[in-house]
Order: sequence, then C-alpha cells, then structure tokens
Amino acid sequence: MFDFMRNKVVDVARLDRETLEVHGILDDSIYSLELCFKVNISDLICSGVKGRWLRWTTPECPRAIDFLHEAEGFCLKAGIDNKIHKTIGRKSCRHFANLFIECGHAVRETVKLLNWEAAQKENPEITFKQFMRNDETASMAESSPGMDNEKKELSSPSGTNKPSPKKTEHKRNAGSLGNPSAKKGKFVIDMHVHTSPASPCASDSVDAMIQEARRIGLQGICLTDHNYVWSAEAVQALSEKHDFLVLRANEIITEQGDILTFGFYENLQGITRLADLKKKVADVGGFIVAAHPFRGFLTFGADDVGLTPDSAMARELFKWVDGVETLNGKVTETENNMARDVANGLGLPSTGGSDAHDISTVGVYATAFDEVIDSEASLLAALKQGKYHPVVFR
Ligand SMILES: [Zn+2]
Ligand SMILES: [Zn+2]
Repeated sequence: MFDFMRNKVVDVARLDRETLEVHGILDDSIYSLELCFKVNISDLICSGVKGRWLRWTTPECPRAIDFLHEAEGFCLKAGIDNKIHKTIGRKSCRHFANLFIECGHAVRETVKLLNWEAAQKENPEITFKQFMRNDETASMAESSPGMDNEKKELSSPSGTNKPSPKKTEHKRNAGSLGNPSAKKGKFVIDMHVHTSPASPCASDSVDAMIQEARRIGLQGICLTDHNYVWSAEAVQALSEKHDFLVLRANEIITEQGDILTFGFYENLQGITRLADLKKKVADVGGFIVAAHPFRGFLTFGADDVGLTPDSAMARELFKWVDGVETLNGKVTETENNMARDVANGLGLPSTGGSDAHDISTVGVYATAFDEVIDSEASLLAALKQGKYHPVVFR
C-alpha cells in the first residue's frame, strides 16, 4: 500500500500600493520546494522570481533554480498556464511550474478582491458577487488590464489557496493597545521577525533588523524565519555584536496554518502536521503559538463568511496551541480582532509580533512581558506563566 500526499500553500501579501508579494510552497512525499516573487498589481507582471529546494531527488534538481528567471516579466493573466508549462516546466522543473501556476491563480483572485475594494469606495453597499457581475464587461478591464481575458466568477478560496491581500496600511487599534504608557516598565520583544536570506521573502539582513529594533527602543527580538533553525552560537554572537537581546524561535508551516514555536530547534521542512508538531514541541518542553490565525479569512468581512468568534473558536487549530498571536503586522484589524476574541474566549494567552520582512515594519506590534527576559529559558518560562500581553509599539 502506498500513501502519497501533496500540499500547496500560497500566500499573497500587499507590499505597497503597486506591488503584491507571493510566496508558494509545494510539499509532497518526495519533493519540497518554495517559490517567491513580486507582482505589479496594475499589469500583473512578475519580477524577482526566486526559488529554493527543501527536498529533492536527483542532482539535476538544483539546476532548476537557475532557470526560474525565465519567468521574469511574465504577465500572470488567465491563459498564462501553458506558457509556464512550456518554459518553467521544461527548462526548470515541472514542480516549480505547477507551483507557479497555483501562485498565478492566487494573484488573480487577490486582484479581484482589490478591485472590489476599490469599487466599494464609490459604492459602499456593493457585495463581491454584485461587483463581479457588474464588472463582467467594463470596469475590470480598465482597472486591471491584465484581467480582461479572464472569466469573471467568484471562486471561493480553496483550502490550499487563499487569496489574502494584507492591508499593511490598515488602521491599527491603537486606542486599546497603543497606549504608550503600556510600554513603560515593561520588557518589550518583537516576537515575530523574518530576515534575509534565511526567509526567502525577507529583504533585510539580520544585522539590519536588529539595529532597527534597537534604534526604535525594543528590548529584544525573536527570529522566526520560516522552517529555519538558527544555531545557539549564531544568535549569541549576534546578541554580543549588537549588545541587544536576540532570541531564536521558528515559524513552521502546518496544514492548519503557520505556527510559531519557542524552545524547539528541530529543522523541519515542508508542511508539517500540526498534531505531529505539537507532540514534538511538547516532548522538549516548548511552547507553540498560532501565528496570524485568521490571515486571509476575513477579507470578505466576518458576516460574509459566516464566521463568528464562537464558530472560530471551534477550529481544530485552537485545540493544539498554547497561545495565539492576536496582533500580527501583516493582517487586517478585523483579522487581529477575531484572533483576540477567540484567544479571550478560549482563555489562551496572546502575543504580538510584527511579522516584519524588512526594517520599516520591525516592532509595529510586539509583546510586553512583566518581567525581564534575558535568555531562551526565561522567555520560555514567561510564555508558560502567561505574564505578558500584545502591544502596538511603533
Ligand atoms: Zn506566517
Ligand atoms: Zn511570519
């Protein structure tokens, strides 16, 4: 009996007004690979295509990376799939082609949502379905020339492919949590930070991220590069070099979403089953937090998807985690609020982190601890005691 599994996860984030950032991962029983690129929203042209193998079979596979640049300048409108098969699939590798096609689909879904958001500014009442119907002929072609050949219909996000435009410019709930006095007398750590090159989508080095964290007055940062394990020595050396608290954690991709792990240093690749991760982390006395648990869920608004804090609390994810990230810098205010309501409802402790991929967003959110943290051990102890809360820092 053979058992074969394949999963694809695609994440689309909005970098700025003009640009989307796409990160895809394909993981099956044999191969595991990642793809990352940027897309111009107005014309769907992609650039900065990067990839890496996490697991492969033949010595030929690594060479596929060199051919990914063939996709530079591709316009990801519907109908591009054949061209992707012909170039990336043949010259590079069919697995990268397969993942690229999935990413292209996610990009198109995301752009539909962005166009709908724009339409709502003129007509706040318009629902997504109405927008897609009205849009059939005119406005889409104008606002997004790349979309004109596409069949306009609402395809609801599938499990492996959730369009999730992240509104990084969204208004933060500074009223409740942004009180600057909340920072005073507290030990504030950005618990969710990515660095380059450890995270393929990050653009600033670990040194730059630490310098910025120090400059803005944080007391420490926690490196949470995706499925990447920093050595204790490397992190110690960084702490000494910058005279600043640098801690290591990890962000692990599971079938139920991203999980931040603390006190756990096994190098896991691809997509891990949450149940397995929980067991592994518990075995070494670690702590796991559901990262941005509603990212992309509430793009339509909670009412549209019928999600209430009560129904959200029933998600299997929350049966496994020790805590919930309720302030994440890459999601909307509604999505953070839902995470907060769920954490409060379930009595789970809450953390905050920027999820920064470059220095401009380090420390937008962080976690304020009641006591001084000076080591991985004291961080872990504090996390378990629950003496902390998420804060708006920057
Ligand atoms: Zn994440
Ligand atoms: Zn992250």
